[in-house]
This record gives sequence, C-alpha cells and structure tokens, in this order.
Amino acid sequence: MLPFARVTIIGLGLIGSSIARAVQAEMPTVRITGHDADPQVRERARELGFCDDVTDTAGASVVDADLVILCVPVGAMGTVGAEIAADLPADAIVSDVGSSKASVLAALAGTLPGATIIPAHPVAGTENSGPDAGFSSLFKGRWCIVTPPEDADATAVQRVAEFWRRLGADVETMDPKHHDLVLAVTSHLPHLIAYTIVGTASDMEEVTQSEVIKFSAGGFRDFTRIAASDPTMWRDVFLNNKDAVLEMLQRFSEDLTALQRAIRWGDGDTLFDLFTRTRAVRRSIIEQGQDDAAPDFGRTH
Ligand code: NAP
Repeated sequence: MLPFARVTIIGLGLIGSSIARAVQAEMPTVRITGHDADPQVRERARELGFCDDVTDTAGASVVDADLVILCVPVGAMGTVGAEIAADLPADAIVSDVGSSKASVLAALAGTLPGATIIPAHPVAGTENSGPDAGFSSLFKGRWCIVTPPEDADATAVQRVAEFWRRLGADVETMDPKHHDLVLAVTSHLPHLIAYTIVGTASDMEEVTQSEVIKFSAGGFRDFTRIAASDPTMWRDVFLNNKDAVLEMLQRFSEDLTALQRAIRWGDGDTLFDLFTRTRAVRRSIIEQGQDDAAPDFGRTH
C-alpha cells in the first residue's frame, strides 16, 4: 500500500520539482499539488507539468493533503509553516527537505503547534536551482536522513521513510542535532571551503582572472562546481547550523595550522601520512557506491 495518496510540495525548485517528478514516475496514482512563492516558478511548473495542480497560495495547496513537504530554503520554513497553519488537515504529516534539521524542527514546531512534524533531509542534489533543474532519478541510491522529534509517532515516521524508499533512497533515522554535526563536516564545511578558495582566487591581483580560469584544471575547477551552489540556500544553511559549523571550522583551522607548520619546517612525513589517509577515504566512498570510480570524475580528455 502506498504511504500517502495526496502529496503537497511547497517550493518547486531543484528538490521540490525532483520529488514531484519522482512521485510521478514511482507512484503515478498519487495526486501532487504544488505551490511556490515566485509566480514565475509557478508558471514554469504548470508548463513542465510535474504537478497535477499548482495553487497561488500556500494555504490552498494543503487543504486535502495527507503529506506536505516543504522544499524552501531553511530560513523560510517558519514563514511557510505560519502560512499553512490554518488550512492544514489535522491528520496530515508535515515534512521538509532542509539541509539543517534542529532549527527547522524548532521553526515548524513553533508555527504548527499540534501538527505531526517528521523532518527529513535527502542527501542528494546538484549545484543547479529552479524547476528546470529537477529530475526524477535524483534520489536513487542516495541517503535520506529522517530526523523525527523525540516523541514522534512511530507510524508517521515509518510512512515518511517508506515514501523516500519508494523514490529510490536508502533511509537512515537520526537525532536532528547529530544530523547537523555530521552534515557540518560532510557538506557544510566543504561548501564553505569551496566558497572561500574561489573567492580568494577571484580577489587575487598578481594572478589575473583569465589565468585562474585558463589553468583551472589543476584542481580549482572542482571547487567551482560546489561554489556555484545557490546563494540563498547556502546563506540560510550557515545561519541555521551555526553552532555545528563553527565547531567544525575550529577543528579545521587547527588542522590547517598544523599543516602550515609542517610545510614551514619541511616535515614531509606529516604531509605524506595525511595524504595517504585521505586517499583511503576516497577509496571507501567509491567502494560504498557513493561516487564513480572513473578517474577525474569521468571527464573525457
Ligand atoms: P531552489 O531550487 O532555489 O528552490 C527553492 C524554491 O523555493 C524557489 O523556487 C524559491 O523561490 C521558493 N521559495 C522561497 N521561499 C519560499 C516561500 N516562503 N514560500 C514558497 N516558496 C518559496 O532550492 P533547492 O535546491 O530546491 O533547495 C530547497 C531546500 O532543499 C532547501 O532547504 C535546501 O537546504 C534543501 N536541499 C537542497 C539540496 C541541494 O543540493 N540543492 C540538497 C538537499 C536539500 P525563489 O527562488 O523565488 O526564492
């Protein structure tokens, strides 16, 4: 039996439109209603046809939903919660896809008192945004982390987990705070480093911009993919996962200082040992099917 029959998706960008497309592909009898604050996105969603209906207000989109998924930037979750509060059916489950979880749970619990809230985070995405960027296979073979509150209804958690399994994801359940710490090191810190290094290179005067672009295959271009990610989304992630990101940043700064010292003192063993350990991490990622083994990400030369 399908876990839900009437799914509402609020925020029809990369993730929202990918969920809608995946539901169409994997659970074609499920009715999908969509809403986005941006009239141009609503128009485009109607043209692309990944929803059965696109409503002009958030309230109208939830009136007969049994699952509502918020796919807006994490800083907008509370606003959307307040917009749907009056129209949300008592038995509907509210979920989201935000990249940080503790602050989203607090925002939704504050604006939707008494509602069944089961947050989740599909660890899948690209550097592109908007309704055209989505695709139905985005979640296949990727993790979706469900982060229920402590007193969550077990059946509701199971239904949300089953929904994600049907979209092709592997599901893991985690405490929201632990999720935020894990993602701070696996996702948020790498994005911050990419934003920094690309920013540093573009600010340099002695190396011209054209040289940075021309010789980018030396490694720089791999950072530019991550640094091209959506500015609104990532501003909100850092503001909403502040504590975990600052803790990981502190550790990273200490490790960077240690490397700086090793380079200064010609301590090749320290550099060699670290680079050997990091190579093994890459091997494990490939072995666990989280990336392709093709050299240079499979680029043709
Ligand atoms: P996106 O492509 O920019 O889509 C977000 C959509 O939400 C936009 O169309 C945006 O409209 C709309 N929106 C913003 N505020 C709204 C509001 N108050 N009410 C209704 N719609 C609103 O972003 P995305 O990449 O899909 O990210 C959506 C969520 O997924 C974020 O919470 C993010 O943390 C999470 N996530 C992203 C990824 C990823 O790799 N991108 C992966 C996993 C999870 P405007 O553009 O006009 O503001």
